[in-house]
Amino acid sequence: MELAELYRDVILDHNRKPRNFGPLEHATATVEGFNPLCGDRLTLRLALADDRIADIRFEGDGCAISTASASLMTEAVKGKTRTEALATFATVHRLLTDDGAAVDDRLGKLAALSGVREYPARVKCASLCWHTLAAALGSPHTQALPAVSTE
Ligand code: ZN
Repeated sequence: MELAELYRDVILDHNRKPRNFGPLEHATATVEGFNPLCGDRLTLRLALADDRIADIRFEGDGCAISTASASLMTEAVKGKTRTEALATFATVHRLLTDDGAAVDDRLGKLAALSGVREYPARVKCASLCWHTLAAALGSPHTQALPAVSTE
């Protein structure tokens, strides 16, 4: 599948039917993210057990790219250890910002996020949830943290 086609299909699909969307009971970390450039708001909740993301869900109100990226992220990191999830964050961050970053099969649907590179103004929309995740993993036992801005 062409990357442009993958980008369009995956973003549309995950915006229309966001995965892991809604509240999460027994969350061990709750972090809010805000992207002032676009107005995207996101609340990310996760349940860490033995340093592994046992469950992760999000709520919020954002553009198609921010919603799709959060949906893809929850699918990608659920079940991963904190270290693995942060490594995925680093990979996606390169994918979003580095034109030279390789897109390979191991990325699965996350490869679609590389399409955002074509729209520099939307990179913050796509990276919002990932920065929010990194903040959540930094303080896993905090119930409520102050809002985190990606600026
Ligand atoms: Zn946005």
